[in-house]
Amino acid sequence: MDFELSETEKMYRDNLRNFLKKEYAPQVGQRDAKGPLTRGEAIDVMKKFKQLGIGLGPETARGFVGSPMIFGIFAEEVGRVWPSLLPLFGMGALPAIYAPLAPEEVKERLIPRLEAAEFIGCFAETEPEAGCDTSKLKTTARPVGDHFVVNGSKTWISNATIADTALVGVTNTETGTQTFLLMEKEYSPWQTNELHKIGWNASPTGEMFFEDCKVPKENELGVLMQNALKLGPKLREVLPVSDGFMKMLSTMEPFTAMMTLPRAGMALASVGIAQAAFEAALNYARERKQFGKPIGKFQLIQEMLYEMDVSIETARLLGYKAVDSIVKGQPDARKLSAMAKVYAGEAAVKVTYRAMQIHGGMGLSTEMALERYFRDARMMTIPDGTSEMMKLVTGYTLLGKGFSAYA
Ligand SMILES: Cc1cc2nc3c(=O)[nH]c(=O)nc-3n(C[C@H](O)[C@H](O)[C@H](O)COP(=O)(O)OP(=O)(O)OC[C@H]3O[C@@H](n4cnc5c(N)ncnc54)[C@H](O)[C@@H]3O)c2cc1C
Repeated sequence: MDFELSETEKMYRDNLRNFLKKEYAPQVGQRDAKGPLTRGEAIDVMKKFKQLGIGLGPETARGFVGSPMIFGIFAEEVGRVWPSLLPLFGMGALPAIYAPLAPEEVKERLIPRLEAAEFIGCFAETEPEAGCDTSKLKTTARPVGDHFVVNGSKTWISNATIADTALVGVTNTETGTQTFLLMEKEYSPWQTNELHKIGWNASPTGEMFFEDCKVPKENELGVLMQNALKLGPKLREVLPVSDGFMKMLSTMEPFTAMMTLPRAGMALASVGIAQAAFEAALNYARERKQFGKPIGKFQLIQEMLYEMDVSIETARLLGYKAVDSIVKGQPDARKLSAMAKVYAGEAAVKVTYRAMQIHGGMGLSTEMALERYFRDARMMTIPDGTSEMMKLVTGYTLLGKGFSAYA
Protein backbone atom coordinates (compact mmCIF):
# COMPACT_ATOMS: atom_id res chain seq x y z
CA MET A 1 0.00 0.00 0.00
CA ASP A 2 1.43 3.37 -1.05
CA PHE A 3 -0.05 6.56 0.37
CA GLU A 4 2.28 8.82 -1.64
CA LEU A 5 1.56 10.55 -4.95
CA SER A 6 4.03 9.67 -7.71
CA GLU A 7 6.82 12.16 -8.49
CA THR A 8 4.94 13.33 -11.62
CA GLU A 9 1.72 13.80 -9.64
CA LYS A 10 3.57 15.74 -6.95
CA MET A 11 5.13 17.99 -9.58
CA TYR A 12 1.71 18.61 -11.14
CA ARG A 13 0.21 19.39 -7.69
CA ASP A 14 3.03 21.77 -6.76
CA ASN A 15 2.85 23.64 -10.09
CA LEU A 16 -0.90 23.96 -9.78
CA ARG A 17 -0.64 25.07 -6.12
CA ASN A 18 1.90 27.77 -7.01
CA PHE A 19 -0.21 28.92 -9.95
CA LEU A 20 -3.36 29.21 -7.81
CA LYS A 21 -1.45 31.00 -5.05
CA LYS A 22 -0.07 33.57 -7.47
CA GLU A 23 -2.95 33.93 -9.92
CA TYR A 24 -6.12 33.72 -7.80
CA ALA A 25 -5.48 33.58 -4.03
CA PRO A 26 -4.82 37.32 -3.62
CA GLN A 27 -8.12 38.42 -5.24
CA VAL A 28 -10.44 35.49 -4.57
CA GLY A 29 -12.24 37.03 -1.57
CA GLN A 30 -13.08 40.27 -3.37
CA ARG A 31 -13.96 38.71 -6.71
CA ASP A 32 -16.08 35.91 -5.25
CA ALA A 33 -18.14 38.43 -3.31
CA LYS A 34 -19.09 40.19 -6.56
CA GLY A 35 -21.06 37.17 -7.81
CA PRO A 36 -21.07 34.97 -10.92
CA LEU A 37 -18.22 35.12 -13.42
CA THR A 38 -19.09 36.66 -16.74
CA ARG A 39 -18.57 34.54 -19.86
CA GLY A 40 -15.46 36.60 -20.67
CA GLU A 41 -14.00 36.00 -17.20
CA ALA A 42 -14.78 32.28 -17.42
CA ILE A 43 -12.96 32.03 -20.76
CA ASP A 44 -10.03 33.91 -19.28
CA VAL A 45 -9.90 31.28 -16.49
CA MET A 46 -10.01 28.43 -19.03
CA LYS A 47 -7.19 30.02 -21.05
CA LYS A 48 -5.00 30.50 -17.97
CA PHE A 49 -5.42 26.87 -16.90
CA LYS A 50 -4.67 25.75 -20.46
CA GLN A 51 -1.14 27.09 -20.00
CA LEU A 52 -0.71 24.41 -17.31
CA GLY A 53 -2.04 21.71 -19.63
CA ILE A 54 -5.43 21.72 -17.86
CA GLY A 55 -8.51 21.96 -20.05
CA LEU A 56 -11.25 20.29 -22.04
CA GLY A 57 -9.64 20.64 -25.49
CA PRO A 58 -8.37 17.66 -27.52
CA GLU A 59 -4.73 18.13 -26.49
CA THR A 60 -5.44 18.58 -22.77
CA ALA A 61 -8.56 16.52 -21.96
CA ARG A 62 -6.87 13.11 -21.99
CA GLY A 63 -4.32 14.20 -19.38
CA PHE A 64 -7.04 15.92 -17.33
CA VAL A 65 -10.57 14.46 -17.22
CA GLY A 66 -9.12 11.30 -18.83
CA SER A 67 -6.63 10.93 -15.94
CA PRO A 68 -8.66 10.43 -12.76
CA MET A 69 -5.76 11.03 -10.35
CA ILE A 70 -4.84 14.30 -12.07
CA PHE A 71 -8.50 15.38 -11.94
CA GLY A 72 -8.67 14.46 -8.23
CA ILE A 73 -5.57 16.51 -7.39
CA PHE A 74 -6.99 19.40 -9.44
CA ALA A 75 -10.26 19.25 -7.46
CA GLU A 76 -8.45 19.32 -4.11
CA GLU A 77 -6.12 22.18 -5.04
CA VAL A 78 -8.80 24.35 -6.68
CA GLY A 79 -11.18 23.55 -3.77
CA ARG A 80 -8.54 24.89 -1.41
CA VAL A 81 -8.32 28.24 -3.17
CA TRP A 82 -11.50 28.93 -5.18
CA PRO A 83 -14.19 26.20 -5.40
CA SER A 84 -16.36 28.46 -7.58
CA LEU A 85 -14.11 27.60 -10.54
CA LEU A 86 -14.76 23.85 -10.36
CA PRO A 87 -18.07 23.61 -12.31
CA LEU A 88 -16.42 25.24 -15.35
CA PHE A 89 -14.24 22.15 -15.65
CA GLY A 90 -16.46 19.51 -14.00
CA MET A 91 -19.93 20.05 -15.46
CA GLY A 92 -18.39 21.75 -18.51
CA ALA A 93 -16.55 18.52 -19.32
CA LEU A 94 -19.74 16.53 -19.93
CA PRO A 95 -20.79 18.12 -23.25
CA ALA A 96 -17.10 18.52 -24.16
CA ILE A 97 -16.47 14.77 -23.92
CA TYR A 98 -19.15 14.05 -26.52
CA ALA A 99 -18.08 16.80 -28.97
CA PRO A 100 -15.69 14.51 -30.93
CA LEU A 101 -18.65 12.18 -31.65
CA ALA A 102 -20.89 14.93 -33.01
CA PRO A 103 -21.80 15.31 -36.71
CA GLU A 104 -19.01 16.85 -38.86
CA GLU A 105 -20.63 20.28 -39.06
CA VAL A 106 -21.08 20.49 -35.27
CA LYS A 107 -17.55 19.19 -34.68
CA GLU A 108 -16.17 21.89 -36.98
CA ARG A 109 -17.70 24.48 -34.69
CA LEU A 110 -17.00 22.89 -31.30
CA ILE A 111 -13.48 21.49 -31.67
CA PRO A 112 -11.80 24.84 -32.51
CA ARG A 113 -13.54 26.40 -29.51
CA LEU A 114 -12.33 23.56 -27.31
CA GLU A 115 -8.81 23.94 -28.72
CA ALA A 116 -8.85 27.67 -27.99
CA ALA A 117 -10.25 27.12 -24.44
CA GLU A 118 -13.31 29.17 -25.40
CA PHE A 119 -15.86 26.42 -24.85
CA ILE A 120 -18.22 26.79 -21.87
CA GLY A 121 -20.50 23.83 -21.37
CA CYS A 122 -23.21 22.72 -19.01
CA PHE A 123 -24.95 19.49 -18.10
CA ALA A 124 -28.69 20.08 -17.72
CA GLU A 125 -30.68 17.32 -16.09
CA THR A 126 -32.38 18.73 -12.97
CA GLU A 127 -35.86 20.20 -13.42
CA PRO A 128 -38.23 22.01 -11.05
CA GLU A 129 -40.03 18.70 -10.39
CA ALA A 130 -37.14 16.31 -11.10
CA GLY A 131 -34.35 16.73 -8.51
CA CYS A 132 -33.12 13.49 -6.93
CA ASP A 133 -35.65 11.61 -9.03
CA THR A 134 -34.71 12.26 -12.64
CA SER A 135 -36.63 9.27 -13.96
CA LYS A 136 -39.54 11.39 -15.23
CA LEU A 137 -38.09 14.39 -17.02
CA LYS A 138 -40.76 16.81 -18.24
CA THR A 139 -38.55 18.48 -20.82
CA THR A 140 -39.72 16.90 -24.05
CA ALA A 141 -38.11 16.23 -27.42
CA ARG A 142 -40.72 15.77 -30.17
CA PRO A 143 -39.35 14.13 -33.33
CA VAL A 144 -40.22 16.17 -36.44
CA GLY A 145 -38.46 15.07 -39.67
CA ASP A 146 -34.69 15.16 -39.16
CA HIS A 147 -34.79 17.05 -35.88
CA PHE A 148 -36.35 17.22 -32.41
CA VAL A 149 -38.42 20.08 -31.08
CA VAL A 150 -37.51 20.66 -27.43
CA ASN A 151 -39.82 22.26 -24.85
CA GLY A 152 -39.43 22.54 -21.10
CA SER A 153 -37.20 23.96 -18.40
CA LYS A 154 -34.23 23.07 -16.22
CA THR A 155 -33.12 24.45 -12.89
CA TRP A 156 -29.99 24.69 -10.75
CA ILE A 157 -27.74 24.22 -13.77
CA SER A 158 -24.08 25.13 -13.28
CA ASN A 159 -22.73 27.46 -16.01
CA ALA A 160 -26.27 27.79 -17.47
CA THR A 161 -26.12 31.55 -17.97
CA ILE A 162 -22.74 31.56 -19.74
CA ALA A 163 -22.72 28.20 -21.55
CA ASP A 164 -22.60 27.97 -25.34
CA THR A 165 -23.11 24.18 -25.40
CA ALA A 166 -25.27 21.94 -23.24
CA LEU A 167 -25.97 18.26 -22.74
CA VAL A 168 -29.70 18.35 -21.98
CA GLY A 169 -31.81 15.54 -20.51
CA VAL A 170 -35.14 15.07 -22.35
CA THR A 171 -38.02 12.63 -22.73
CA ASN A 172 -38.68 11.54 -26.32
CA THR A 173 -42.44 12.05 -26.83
CA GLU A 174 -42.64 9.25 -29.41
CA THR A 175 -40.85 6.48 -27.50
CA GLY A 176 -41.39 7.77 -23.94
CA THR A 177 -37.69 7.06 -23.24
CA GLN A 178 -35.21 9.49 -21.74
CA THR A 179 -32.04 10.59 -23.47
CA PHE A 180 -29.66 13.54 -23.76
CA LEU A 181 -29.23 16.03 -26.59
CA LEU A 182 -26.04 17.92 -27.37
CA MET A 183 -27.31 21.46 -27.92
CA GLU A 184 -25.60 24.60 -29.16
CA LYS A 185 -27.09 27.88 -27.99
CA GLU A 186 -26.39 29.63 -31.27
CA TYR A 187 -28.39 27.07 -33.30
CA SER A 188 -30.96 25.96 -30.71
CA PRO A 189 -31.35 29.12 -28.63
CA TRP A 190 -32.55 28.87 -25.04
CA GLN A 191 -33.29 31.48 -22.39
CA THR A 192 -31.71 31.58 -18.93
CA ASN A 193 -32.25 33.14 -15.54
CA GLU A 194 -29.57 33.51 -12.88
CA LEU A 195 -30.13 31.78 -9.51
CA HIS A 196 -28.46 33.01 -6.32
CA LYS A 197 -27.07 30.78 -3.61
CA ILE A 198 -25.12 31.01 -0.34
CA GLY A 199 -21.81 29.64 -1.63
CA TRP A 200 -19.76 29.15 -4.82
CA ASN A 201 -20.74 32.77 -5.43
CA ALA A 202 -18.61 33.23 -8.53
CA SER A 203 -19.98 30.09 -10.17
CA PRO A 204 -22.93 30.96 -12.44
CA THR A 205 -25.98 28.81 -11.71
CA GLY A 206 -29.29 29.18 -13.49
CA GLU A 207 -32.54 28.08 -14.96
CA MET A 208 -32.84 27.20 -18.65
CA PHE A 209 -35.99 27.56 -20.73
CA PHE A 210 -36.55 25.77 -24.04
CA GLU A 211 -39.39 26.85 -26.31
CA ASP A 212 -39.77 25.03 -29.63
CA CYS A 213 -36.00 24.64 -29.78
CA LYS A 214 -34.88 22.71 -32.90
CA VAL A 215 -32.08 20.16 -32.42
CA PRO A 216 -30.82 17.82 -35.19
CA LYS A 217 -31.58 14.15 -34.49
CA GLU A 218 -27.90 13.45 -35.08
CA ASN A 219 -27.16 15.26 -31.79
CA GLU A 220 -28.96 12.65 -29.69
CA LEU A 221 -26.80 10.66 -27.25
CA GLY A 222 -27.84 7.29 -28.73
CA VAL A 223 -26.60 8.40 -32.16
CA LEU A 224 -23.40 9.79 -30.64
CA MET A 225 -22.82 6.43 -28.91
CA GLN A 226 -23.39 4.60 -32.21
CA ASN A 227 -20.74 6.86 -33.75
CA ALA A 228 -18.49 5.85 -30.87
CA LEU A 229 -19.04 2.13 -31.51
CA LYS A 230 -18.23 2.60 -35.20
CA LEU A 231 -14.80 3.89 -34.20
CA GLY A 232 -13.95 0.53 -32.58
CA PRO A 233 -10.47 0.50 -31.02
CA LYS A 234 -9.90 4.04 -32.36
CA LEU A 235 -12.44 5.29 -29.83
CA ARG A 236 -9.74 5.67 -27.19
CA GLU A 237 -7.83 8.00 -29.52
CA VAL A 238 -10.87 10.23 -29.95
CA LEU A 239 -12.47 10.27 -26.50
CA PRO A 240 -10.64 11.46 -23.38
CA VAL A 241 -11.72 8.51 -21.25
CA SER A 242 -9.44 6.45 -19.04
CA ASP A 243 -8.75 2.70 -19.27
CA GLY A 244 -10.51 2.41 -15.91
CA PHE A 245 -13.63 4.06 -17.31
CA MET A 246 -13.70 1.59 -20.22
CA LYS A 247 -13.33 -1.27 -17.72
CA MET A 248 -16.16 0.05 -15.55
CA LEU A 249 -18.50 -0.14 -18.54
CA SER A 250 -18.47 -3.93 -18.19
CA THR A 251 -19.92 -3.72 -14.66
CA MET A 252 -22.12 -0.59 -14.70
CA GLU A 253 -24.27 1.66 -16.88
CA PRO A 254 -22.34 4.37 -18.80
CA PHE A 255 -24.04 7.18 -16.84
CA THR A 256 -23.23 5.51 -13.50
CA ALA A 257 -19.61 5.08 -14.59
CA MET A 258 -19.51 8.68 -15.79
CA MET A 259 -20.69 10.06 -12.43
CA THR A 260 -17.96 8.34 -10.37
CA LEU A 261 -15.26 10.92 -11.20
CA PRO A 262 -17.33 14.10 -10.56
CA ARG A 263 -18.40 12.62 -7.21
CA ALA A 264 -14.85 11.73 -6.20
CA GLY A 265 -13.90 15.23 -7.42
CA MET A 266 -16.55 16.81 -5.17
CA ALA A 267 -15.13 14.79 -2.24
CA LEU A 268 -11.60 16.04 -2.87
CA ALA A 269 -12.77 19.62 -3.43
CA SER A 270 -14.42 19.36 0.02
CA VAL A 271 -11.06 18.20 1.40
CA GLY A 272 -9.45 21.27 -0.18
CA ILE A 273 -11.95 23.67 1.44
CA ALA A 274 -11.57 21.94 4.82
CA GLN A 275 -7.75 22.04 4.56
CA ALA A 276 -7.75 25.79 3.90
CA ALA A 277 -10.00 26.41 6.92
CA PHE A 278 -7.93 24.08 9.11
CA GLU A 279 -4.66 25.83 8.25
CA ALA A 280 -6.19 29.21 9.08
CA ALA A 281 -7.42 27.85 12.44
CA LEU A 282 -4.04 26.31 13.25
CA ASN A 283 -2.24 29.62 12.65
CA TYR A 284 -4.81 31.54 14.65
CA ALA A 285 -4.57 29.08 17.58
CA ARG A 286 -0.81 29.71 17.69
CA GLU A 287 -1.07 33.51 17.53
CA ARG A 288 -4.22 34.60 19.36
CA LYS A 289 -3.65 35.09 23.11
CA GLN A 290 -6.29 34.98 25.85
CA PHE A 291 -5.81 34.50 29.60
CA GLY A 292 -2.15 35.32 29.01
CA LYS A 293 -1.40 32.45 26.60
CA PRO A 294 -2.00 31.34 23.01
CA ILE A 295 -5.50 29.83 22.71
CA GLY A 296 -3.80 26.77 21.11
CA LYS A 297 -2.68 25.84 24.65
CA PHE A 298 -6.28 25.26 25.74
CA GLN A 299 -7.38 21.64 25.63
CA LEU A 300 -10.79 22.40 24.11
CA ILE A 301 -9.11 24.16 21.19
CA GLN A 302 -6.73 21.21 20.73
CA GLU A 303 -9.68 18.84 20.72
CA MET A 304 -11.28 20.88 17.91
CA LEU A 305 -8.01 20.77 15.97
CA TYR A 306 -7.88 17.00 16.47
CA GLU A 307 -11.47 16.55 15.23
CA MET A 308 -10.76 18.72 12.20
CA ASP A 309 -7.51 17.04 11.21
CA VAL A 310 -8.74 13.47 11.69
CA SER A 311 -11.78 14.09 9.50
CA ILE A 312 -9.66 15.78 6.79
CA GLU A 313 -7.21 12.87 6.79
CA THR A 314 -10.07 10.35 6.61
CA ALA A 315 -11.87 12.26 3.85
CA ARG A 316 -8.66 12.58 1.83
CA LEU A 317 -7.90 8.86 2.14
CA LEU A 318 -11.45 7.96 1.11
CA GLY A 319 -11.40 10.49 -1.76
CA TYR A 320 -8.15 9.20 -3.21
CA LYS A 321 -9.23 5.59 -2.62
CA ALA A 322 -12.31 6.35 -4.74
CA VAL A 323 -10.09 7.90 -7.42
CA ASP A 324 -7.77 4.88 -7.31
CA SER A 325 -10.75 2.54 -7.83
CA ILE A 326 -11.76 4.67 -10.87
CA VAL A 327 -8.19 4.47 -12.23
CA LYS A 328 -8.38 0.68 -11.91
CA GLY A 329 -11.97 0.50 -13.18
CA GLN A 330 -13.11 -1.49 -10.14
CA PRO A 331 -16.83 -2.17 -9.57
CA ASP A 332 -16.32 -0.63 -6.10
CA ALA A 333 -15.80 2.78 -7.74
CA ARG A 334 -19.52 3.54 -7.58
CA LYS A 335 -19.80 2.87 -3.85
CA LEU A 336 -16.49 4.50 -2.92
CA SER A 337 -17.17 7.71 -4.87
CA ALA A 338 -20.65 7.99 -3.30
CA MET A 339 -19.28 7.34 0.21
CA ALA A 340 -16.41 9.77 -0.29
CA LYS A 341 -18.78 12.49 -1.48
CA VAL A 342 -20.99 12.18 1.62
CA TYR A 343 -18.17 11.85 4.13
CA ALA A 344 -15.96 14.62 2.76
CA GLY A 345 -18.83 17.06 2.08
CA GLU A 346 -20.18 16.71 5.60
CA ALA A 347 -16.67 16.77 7.10
CA ALA A 348 -16.01 20.09 5.30
CA VAL A 349 -19.13 21.60 6.89
CA LYS A 350 -17.99 20.52 10.38
CA VAL A 351 -14.36 21.55 9.84
CA THR A 352 -15.25 25.02 8.56
CA TYR A 353 -17.69 25.47 11.48
CA ARG A 354 -14.92 24.63 13.97
CA ALA A 355 -12.41 26.85 12.17
CA MET A 356 -14.84 29.77 12.60
CA GLN A 357 -15.33 28.86 16.26
CA ILE A 358 -11.57 28.93 16.89
CA HIS A 359 -11.45 32.42 15.34
CA GLY A 360 -14.09 33.69 17.77
CA GLY A 361 -15.71 36.95 16.56
CA MET A 362 -13.17 37.22 13.73
CA GLY A 363 -14.53 33.92 12.36
CA LEU A 364 -17.82 35.66 11.65
CA SER A 365 -16.25 38.69 10.01
CA THR A 366 -16.88 39.12 6.30
CA GLU A 367 -13.33 40.44 6.06
CA MET A 368 -11.93 36.96 6.77
CA ALA A 369 -11.99 34.00 4.40
CA LEU A 370 -13.58 31.78 7.07
CA GLU A 371 -17.15 32.72 6.24
CA ARG A 372 -16.52 31.95 2.54
CA TYR A 373 -15.01 28.56 3.40
CA PHE A 374 -18.09 27.82 5.51
CA ARG A 375 -20.54 28.89 2.77
CA ASP A 376 -18.60 27.00 0.07
CA ALA A 377 -18.43 23.87 2.26
CA ARG A 378 -22.19 24.00 2.75
CA MET A 379 -22.63 23.69 -1.02
CA MET A 380 -20.88 20.32 -1.18
CA THR A 381 -23.65 18.06 0.13
CA ILE A 382 -26.29 18.77 -2.56
CA PRO A 383 -25.08 18.99 -6.21
CA ASP A 384 -23.91 15.83 -8.02
CA GLY A 385 -26.03 13.70 -5.68
CA THR A 386 -27.31 14.68 -2.23
CA SER A 387 -25.84 12.99 0.85
CA GLU A 388 -29.10 11.05 1.24
CA MET A 389 -29.02 9.73 -2.34
CA MET A 390 -25.33 8.84 -2.00
CA LYS A 391 -26.15 6.82 1.13
CA LEU A 392 -28.87 5.00 -0.82
CA VAL A 393 -26.42 4.29 -3.66
CA THR A 394 -24.07 2.82 -1.06
CA GLY A 395 -26.89 0.76 0.47
CA TYR A 396 -27.84 -0.60 -2.92
CA THR A 397 -24.28 -1.52 -3.91
CA LEU A 398 -23.81 -3.26 -0.56
CA LEU A 399 -27.06 -5.22 -0.67
CA GLY A 400 -27.31 -5.89 -4.39
CA LYS A 401 -30.11 -6.34 -6.92
CA GLY A 402 -33.63 -5.82 -5.61
CA PHE A 403 -32.50 -3.54 -2.76
CA SER A 404 -32.72 -0.12 -4.40
CA ALA A 405 -34.53 2.16 -1.94
CA TYR A 406 -35.73 4.49 -4.67
CA ALA A 407 -36.11 2.62 -7.97
C1 LIG B 1 -25.16 24.91 -6.88
C2 LIG B 1 -25.85 23.80 -7.57
C3 LIG B 1 -25.35 23.36 -8.79
C4 LIG B 1 -26.01 22.35 -9.49
N1 LIG B 1 -25.56 22.00 -10.73
C5 LIG B 1 -26.29 21.14 -11.48
C6 LIG B 1 -25.95 20.86 -12.84
O1 LIG B 1 -24.94 21.39 -13.35
N2 LIG B 1 -26.74 20.03 -13.55
C7 LIG B 1 -27.86 19.45 -13.03
O2 LIG B 1 -28.54 18.72 -13.75
N3 LIG B 1 -28.21 19.68 -11.74
C8 LIG B 1 -27.47 20.51 -10.95
N4 LIG B 1 -27.83 20.78 -9.65
C9 LIG B 1 -29.04 20.16 -9.11
C10 LIG B 1 -28.76 19.13 -8.06
O3 LIG B 1 -28.25 17.97 -8.66
C11 LIG B 1 -30.08 18.91 -7.32
O4 LIG B 1 -30.31 20.08 -6.52
C12 LIG B 1 -30.05 17.69 -6.44
O5 LIG B 1 -30.01 16.53 -7.23
C13 LIG B 1 -31.25 17.62 -5.51
O6 LIG B 1 -32.45 17.89 -6.17
P1 LIG B 1 -33.51 18.91 -5.52
O7 LIG B 1 -32.75 20.16 -5.22
O8 LIG B 1 -34.68 19.02 -6.40
O9 LIG B 1 -33.92 18.25 -4.15
P2 LIG B 1 -35.08 17.14 -3.96
O10 LIG B 1 -34.91 16.03 -4.93
O11 LIG B 1 -36.39 17.82 -3.88
O12 LIG B 1 -34.71 16.60 -2.49
C14 LIG B 1 -35.06 17.30 -1.30
C15 LIG B 1 -34.53 16.50 -0.12
O13 LIG B 1 -35.12 15.18 -0.11
C16 LIG B 1 -34.11 14.19 -0.10
N5 LIG B 1 -34.56 13.01 -0.85
C17 LIG B 1 -35.09 12.97 -2.10
N6 LIG B 1 -35.38 11.70 -2.45
C18 LIG B 1 -35.03 10.92 -1.39
C19 LIG B 1 -35.08 9.52 -1.11
N7 LIG B 1 -35.51 8.63 -2.00
N8 LIG B 1 -34.66 9.10 0.10
C20 LIG B 1 -34.18 9.97 1.02
N9 LIG B 1 -34.11 11.28 0.82
C21 LIG B 1 -34.52 11.77 -0.36
C22 LIG B 1 -32.90 14.87 -0.73
O14 LIG B 1 -31.68 14.23 -0.39
C23 LIG B 1 -33.02 16.27 -0.16
O15 LIG B 1 -32.51 16.28 1.13
C24 LIG B 1 -27.16 21.75 -8.92
C25 LIG B 1 -27.61 22.15 -7.66
C26 LIG B 1 -26.99 23.17 -7.00
C27 LIG B 1 -27.54 23.62 -5.67
